Amino acid sequence: MKLVVIGGGVTGLSAAHRALELARERGTALDLTLVEARDRLGGTIATERVDGFLVEAGPDSFLSEKPWGLDLCRRLGIEPSLVRTDDRYRKTLVWHRGRLHALPEGFQLLAPTRFAPFVTSSLFSWPGKARMALDLVLPRGGGDDESLASFVRRRLGAEALDRVAQPLVAGIYTADPDELSLAATMPRFLELERRERSIIRALWRAGRRAPQAGTSGARWSLFVTFRNGMEEMVATLASRLPAGAVLLKQRVSALERQGAGWCILTEDGHRLEAERVIVAAEAPAAGRMLRYVEPGLATLLGEIEYVSSATVSLGYRRGDISHPLDAFGFVVPRTEGRAMLACTFSSVKYAGRAPDGYALLRCFFGGALGAGVLREDDAGLLARARDELRAALGVAAPPLLVRISRHPASMPQYRVGHLRRLEAIEHRLAALPGLDLAGSGYRGVGIADCVRSGEAAAERMLMGG
Ligand SMILES: Cc1cc2nc3c(=O)[nH]c(=O)nc-3n(C[C@H](O)[C@H](O)[C@H](O)COP(=O)(O)OP(=O)(O)OC[C@H]3O[C@@H](n4cnc5c(N)ncnc54)[C@H](O)[C@@H]3O)c2cc1C
Repeated sequence: MKLVVIGGGVTGLSAAHRALELARERGTALDLTLVEARDRLGGTIATERVDGFLVEAGPDSFLSEKPWGLDLCRRLGIEPSLVRTDDRYRKTLVWHRGRLHALPEGFQLLAPTRFAPFVTSSLFSWPGKARMALDLVLPRGGGDDESLASFVRRRLGAEALDRVAQPLVAGIYTADPDELSLAATMPRFLELERRERSIIRALWRAGRRAPQAGTSGARWSLFVTFRNGMEEMVATLASRLPAGAVLLKQRVSALERQGAGWCILTEDGHRLEAERVIVAAEAPAAGRMLRYVEPGLATLLGEIEYVSSATVSLGYRRGDISHPLDAFGFVVPRTEGRAMLACTFSSVKYAGRAPDGYALLRCFFGGALGAGVLREDDAGLLARARDELRAALGVAAPPLLVRISRHPASMPQYRVGHLRRLEAIEHRLAALPGLDLAGSGYRGVGIADCVRSGEAAAERMLMGG
């Protein structure tokens, strides 16, 4: 069977790897080609080692609670390279009115689950705390799809939204909470309301059934990385592909139907033929490839908007930072009027990210609500990062290391209506045998979700299920 995978990010690589696994298991002869537009594999995942620092350009970890990432690592034999967070510092800080406040222990993304840390927290006002507690008595509400902001305002009040949900969600989904579909991103909360009415009570009960030490927000819970950085995952996947299977610097411009199979055309005029194709590029790119095959599908794919972001990694002498750095990092509510969305204390969160006596901080900019700042050049972004770190952490000394990475149109936005759009996409796709779609644009933006998406596409293509 001839299979072409388009896109060499973690999704495309996982799809290609799973296809090879299945072909081996089933004794199927598989002729695989992976086509990637850039001159390297990995997509948004890239790691750089410089002067003893380990800098992640894109993702710095993945969620181990979702099994697909870990399961792939086990099959690849790289589980021993995984590094856990240093849980002595398992805490998230929130910048509020010029000061960093700890997110109360037990706060789970939207709502508190532990009474004492919540009541004594300096992050919320008394009226704010009382409003959150109202969740215990409020009736059920909402419609079939609702924005995150509407849900949090309704159940927990504006303070919970402005000071916690918005900045945490900006860090994960780079999204505007007034646009973000709760059903497409965090259906668990809708389910909790449906089942138990009160979110606080439901989370508290769930916590008693399966206690999670110190969980204070999804971005910070149970994340893992690799000793040599996230690139280890994609490099290992790439090393398992047959020699000659990867075509780099080949941007696919269009797909055409060819009898029962497909023809893949690249901008350079290459023409590949295949019985099966998995498109693991960003959804709008997939739409452009399919514009002649199925214009309706192409339009739906083009409607999934992607936003841009940038990371600014800064290495310092530890002694130049007056803050104790006793957390995994901080998030910045939009109401603070700053440019930074979040800052990860990379060398605190994971061992081996900076030499002894040094610290690595990573600032995150952009997203749906912060696109403007990305128009600035690197010097402007660096000045913003330094200025805001001075205010937050008291670091005035110049950094010894600076790495700026831009990720244009790289984060899909799951807006209200996303799931309905996916149904329409899947309905149209079902009429195009031998073609499948995978990636962060559809049913999960995290790396574990991407692995699942790529592997599921490979299974459908090879097993027809
Ligand atoms: C700054 C940042 C931080 C993040 N942090 C985390 C994190 O800590 N944990 C986590 O789980 N997730 C994180 N994410 C999300 C995660 O990185 C992505 O969702 C995931 O890597 C997407 O993988 P992908 O393969 O679907 O897409 P991509 O990595 O975008 O890969 C798509 C590939 O398709 C190629 N392509 C596009 N068009 C064509 C074409 N026409 N022809 C050929 N090839 C094409 C592209 O060049 C690219 O290589 C982060 C994302 C960003 C941007």
